[in-house]
Amino acid sequence: MKQTSRSRTARRHSIEERLAAAKRSRAVEDTKFRARQVQGKVRRFVSANFRKEEVVAALALRRGECNRCGACCEILFKCPFLKKNDDDSTTCGIYEDRPNQCRLFPIEQRDLEEVRGSCSFYFIERPIKLEKAS
Ligand code: SF4
Ligand code: SF4
Repeated sequence: MKQTSRSRTARRHSIEERLAAAKRSRAVEDTKFRARQVQGKVRRFVSANFRKEEVVAALALRRGECNRCGACCEILFKCPFLKKNDDDSTTCGIYEDRPNQCRLFPIEQRDLEEVRGSCSFYFIERPIKLEKAS
């Protein structure tokens, strides 16, 4: 059956509408992600500088080590002190003097969401208790 000009136009409009809806949905997701990053930055600043006991408890659940990907230095914006190396690793230009929230990232599980899986740290659910040897 031959497609009429009207049905072709309707199909094109439908595709355009779906593309526009997908674009709007991506924009909403991006806005939510950035809002989460803003909250995370504020939360880590407060925790790292004013809630040291809570931070110590939270870090007891952290495992792994830094792979120097630099993703935490690009949350919301790229830090001007971040240097990229030839081997794809990164270096902090003010390493010895970097802020506490940089030294301590990630403090808790939800911090990992802000770097979309780049971080090589992970968290266990509860502290491991050492049993007495029998
Ligand atoms: S100060 Fe250093 S550790 Fe902190 S975000 Fe910038 S480059 Fe990264
Ligand atoms: S995101 Fe994690 S692994 Fe990457 S530099 Fe930051 S702390 Fe290290």
